[in-house]
Parts: sequence; C-alpha cells; structure tokens
Amino acid sequence: MSAQTVFVTGATGYIAQHIILQLLKKGYHVIGQVRSVAKGEALEKDFSDKNFSFEIVEVLEKDGAFDVVLTKHPEVTVFLHTASPFTLEVEDNEKDMIIPAVNGTKNVLVSIKRFAPQIKRVVVTSSLLSAISFAELIDPKFRGSEDDWHSVTLEEGKNGDLSAAYPASKKFAELAAWDFVKDEKPNFQLSTILPGSVFGPQAFESGVSNLHLSAAMVAKVLKLKRDDAIPDIVSIAIDVRDIALAHILAFEKEEAAGQRIVGAAHRFIYSEIVDIIRRNFTEFDCQLPPTEKLPNNFYDKWVKFDDVKSRKTLGIEYIPLEKTVIDSITQILDYNKKHG
Ligand code: NAP
Repeated sequence: MSAQTVFVTGATGYIAQHIILQLLKKGYHVIGQVRSVAKGEALEKDFSDKNFSFEIVEVLEKDGAFDVVLTKHPEVTVFLHTASPFTLEVEDNEKDMIIPAVNGTKNVLVSIKRFAPQIKRVVVTSSLLSAISFAELIDPKFRGSEDDWHSVTLEEGKNGDLSAAYPASKKFAELAAWDFVKDEKPNFQLSTILPGSVFGPQAFESGVSNLHLSAAMVAKVLKLKRDDAIPDIVSIAIDVRDIALAHILAFEKEEAAGQRIVGAAHRFIYSEIVDIIRRNFTEFDCQLPPTEKLPNNFYDKWVKFDDVKSRKTLGIEYIPLEKTVIDSITQILDYNKKHG
C-alpha cells in the first residue's frame, strides 16, 4: 500500500513543524500549507525530504480558501488543521484573532466536504483554554474535565483583552468544528486536540532566533537577575514533541475518532522552571533569583482537571518537564554559542 498523504495547515508553526517531522519519519507524505512561497521554500530546505511539499493559502478566512488546493490533491486522506493566530500583536480581536480561527476552521471543513470526500480523518488543534479559564487553572475549588467548555462569550472575546480573545477564538473555532460534523454529517471523523502550555525545543535550531510565545516563556528565565521577582505564571505544560505525537495518534487510533483530547502533562509554577535550570545549568546558579522549596503536596491545592480519558486514548508516556526544559535550554545555549 502506498503511503498516506497528510495535509497540515500552519506548517510554519512551532507545533506543526514537529508534527511534520514525525509524520515524515513515519513514512507519510506531507503537504504543508503556508502563507507565502518564501515560507514554503524555507520549510522545504529545513525538512529536506522529497515527501514534503507545500501549498499556498494566504488567507484562511476567505470563503473557499481551501477549494483549489484540495481539488488539486485527491491523494490527501488526512487533514490536520493547526493554523490559528497565536500572537500578542492584535489590534482588533475579532478581525485579527477570532475570525481567522473560526472562519478558517469552517472553511477547511466545508472544502473537505465539497472537494475531498476521500479524507476520512480530520484533526483540529484547539487549546486547553477552550475547556477551562486561567482563573480556573489556579482555583483550589475548581473541578473540571475534558467535557467542559470555557465560559467566555463571543462578545467578551471581541471586546475584552487577549486573555478573553484567545480562548474565545479557540473555543468558538472548536465548537464550529463539532457543530459542522453534527449538522453536515461529512465523510470524515473529527478529533480535536487541546494542548496546555507547549514547551520544548524548536524543530530546527534556526527557530531559536524567533522563539514562539510559549517556548519563549522558558527562555525568559535566562534573562532573570538575582533581584528580579519570579513571574507569577502557573499552567499545565506539555512537551511539543508529545503534542505533535498526539495529533498523529488522533488520526491513527480508531478510538480517538470523535474525541476531544486534552494534552496537558505537568502542572507547574514558574519557579519550578527556574529550579530546573539552576539544577542542570550551574553556570546560571548565581544569576537566578532564589526560589522557595515547594511543599510536597503543593499541587494538590489547585486545578483538579480530569484528563484520564485523553491519557488513556493517547497512551503517551509524557516527557518529564525536567527533560523538556533541559532540551529547550540546551538548544538555546548551543544556538547562542554558534551565533554569538
Ligand atoms: P505558531 O508557531 O504561532 O503557529 C501558528 C501557525 O498558524 C503558523 O503557521 C502561522 O502562520 C499560522 N497563522 C497564524 N495566524 C494566521 C492567520 N491569520 N492566517 C493564516 N495562518 C495563520 O503557534 P503554535 O504554538 O505552533 O500553534 C499551533 C496551534 O496550536 C494553534 O492553533 C494554537 O492556537 C494551538 N495551541 C498552541 C499552544 C502553545 O502553547 N503553543 C497551546 C494551545 C494551543 P505564519 O507563520 O505565516 O504566521
């Protein structure tokens, strides 16, 4: 049997590049969607694999955006939709974040139904923030599960700050995908992936020069000085290599069809990342601010989020946070050594 062809949107992305690397390694053919020829050619150079090619779709939210590329590629049987705005540069929440996310997702699904009925599996990248809020993450009384939805409304997303706009963009894009499947009964089965904060090395060392927002959170520790306050950040992290694998297992595994799958491995507070770096990169010991030792049961106090179903469906043994941080920092230090 010839290799399956997988279409991946947002191929330039931090997560998508890892997905594509793993797909190519497993023998799949991959077509990556990018917004310009220059971006596609740069990726071709990075992947240097004859089984990788790219297609341009400049504007996700334009009606029929994917009609031409899907008509051109009847060999595609799996579609992974990762592209979505994830940026601090937002002037207009609705135009810059919500519409590309929601209408981009709808366009993908409409085009697949109309022009690519041979596609049997679709995976959409959502977010843990589609299910729970920042506030719930640190609320000791909170109890949640993979079946929950963030309470943010579309209006709050349009008019609030980024902490409302981004979750709204992910929640309403994901809801649109599930509604499409329910109402349109297409040929494909849908899975959605809900990553927590994604950390870990870039797929290619060159990516260090332009670190993605979430990966930059780890890198920022290196800039802290002894007297600096440690940023008050808590979240649930997952290694980028694990979340990439989750996207692949989501279409390979029968039991993942029709599922929302949370990818959130390790609760953490920022001081833990400082500690990991101090332990493993002793040259930063004197520079980094002191941290307090966490009591043994520290995390019992907050975020009770039941993701047992997702863990069982994926069956991934998550990479420990310590390794994720070590691999990220090692890559950054190697890059800095080479590039001054
Ligand atoms: P990323 O590196 O910023 O990748 C985003 C991708 O989407 C890029 O390929 C980007 O293309 C494309 N994109 C962004 N805005 C677009 C627009 N308006 N029109 C067309 N394409 C657009 O981020 P990432 O972390 O890999 O994110 C991938 C997915 O994971 C997103 O759906 C994000 O919401 C989700 N996610 C990420 C995290 C995390 O911690 N990283 C956590 C939860 C969920 P260009 O390169 O051309 O800009």
